[in-house]
Amino acid sequence: MASEVSQNGDPEESALPTAVPLRRIARGNLCSGCGACAGVFPGKIRMQKVEPGFLRPLEFAPLTDAEQQAFDRFCPALGQKIAAEDQPDDVLWGPYREMRTGWATDTLLRFRGASGGALSALLVHLLNSGEVEAIVQIADDPQNPIANRMVVSIDRDDILAAGGSRYAPSAPLERLSEMVDSGRKYAFVGKPCDAVALRALASERPEVAATYPIILSFFCAGVPSEQGARELIKSLGVHEDHVTSFRYRGHGWPGRATASLDDGTERSMSYHESWGDILSKHVQHRCKICADGTGKAADIVCADAWESDADGYPIFEEAEGVSLIVSRTSLGERILQEAVAAGEIEISGFDVDKLAPIQPGQRERRRALMARLLALRLAGRPTPRYRGLHLWAAARQNPFSRNLKNFLGMLRRVIIGRL
Ligand SMILES: Cc1cc2nc3c(=O)[nH]c(=O)nc-3n(C[C@H](O)[C@H](O)[C@H](O)COP(=O)(O)OP(=O)(O)OC[C@H]3O[C@@H](n4cnc5c(N)ncnc54)[C@H](O)[C@@H]3O)c2cc1C
Repeated sequence: MASEVSQNGDPEESALPTAVPLRRIARGNLCSGCGACAGVFPGKIRMQKVEPGFLRPLEFAPLTDAEQQAFDRFCPALGQKIAAEDQPDDVLWGPYREMRTGWATDTLLRFRGASGGALSALLVHLLNSGEVEAIVQIADDPQNPIANRMVVSIDRDDILAAGGSRYAPSAPLERLSEMVDSGRKYAFVGKPCDAVALRALASERPEVAATYPIILSFFCAGVPSEQGARELIKSLGVHEDHVTSFRYRGHGWPGRATASLDDGTERSMSYHESWGDILSKHVQHRCKICADGTGKAADIVCADAWESDADGYPIFEEAEGVSLIVSRTSLGERILQEAVAAGEIEISGFDVDKLAPIQPGQRERRRALMARLLALRLAGRPTPRYRGLHLWAAARQNPFSRNLKNFLGMLRRVIIGRL
């Protein structure tokens, strides 16, 4: 009998589900909330919100043995496999064709976008060129201004409305079966873990590959719970009930976290305060042991091409947005070149050696990962299975003392029950 339990990762708090992969995920608190399992098994799993505001699968009917084996192969909580083939394969940044900076030539897309609106410009191009019929992406949830929902965008205005980063849980694969059944062709935008699940599914299921011929992603430092956004709103000195809409950034680069209130006024705080002081402290456990915050399974990935100070560190001064654009596959490179030729996007060269200094969060997490995984394994906790992600090589970029600190830090979290 399947049990209706939340996957909050604390076996003491709830009975475990029946499916073996879900039990492993729950024991290790490994779920990132992509929704792929609900998308593949809509009659047996659905996503639900659990405290402190994460999306987690709820198994409401038992999976067969064959379904559990399939689950094991696509679920990004359980692992990731990368094959660089003939591409340059950077220890920290993974396989790629080219790295560039760029921005949308459509000034509104650039202004509203998280950085340069490059992702949105690529999406507009994919629609205009007929490469796809629609876009599956994330936008704000009108029922709950701090939350997200999956949307299907069919024109530039839809894409504009969904632009900008939303630092809250999202499950863009939750409706996968429905999208496959629609018989249409979509471009997909999601977090790196969403891209991992979709790529794994597409490699086994031709109907998924046909539905989603192109996968776009962005660098991701981790998903904060909704509780993070609630604290942010509280710090703005307003009650959640008075917030009619909320954006996490955008409207400039990086743009301010801004709550619009029912009296017509707005309250806001800088990106440095909102992400640095509040949201980053609410990131889920799985993201702290993520080997791929840079979308290694996607065709094209965008990120912040931060300006840096004299020491190479990122500065978050407001400026006109610039995205980093990484084409990872020949398909991604072709689409970017065509978007440039169509005048949707402007690009210029980028030196990969400049990336580590302006992405300190990504750099440090990759280098710390092996030490954290070893601590979890020593403590008997399940960890994701990573293949082709250069964990040891990344760890060797850290001094021994920093690896030891990360090892002991993770062990301490297990001992005091803070996973
Ligand atoms: C949780 C999170 C963490 C991030 N961490 C980093 C980081 O460490 N380093 C870095 O350089 N950049 C990070 N980014 C990405 C960055 O904020 C921009 O998305 C990126 O620079 C591309 O900007 P753009 O202007 O080209 O994209 P835009 O044109 O603004 O397009 C953004 C796209 O992202 C989609 N999107 C927004 N929020 C979500 C979400 N929660 N889930 C799924 N899709 C979403 C939108 O639907 C839209 O398609 C993060 C983004 C998120 C959501």
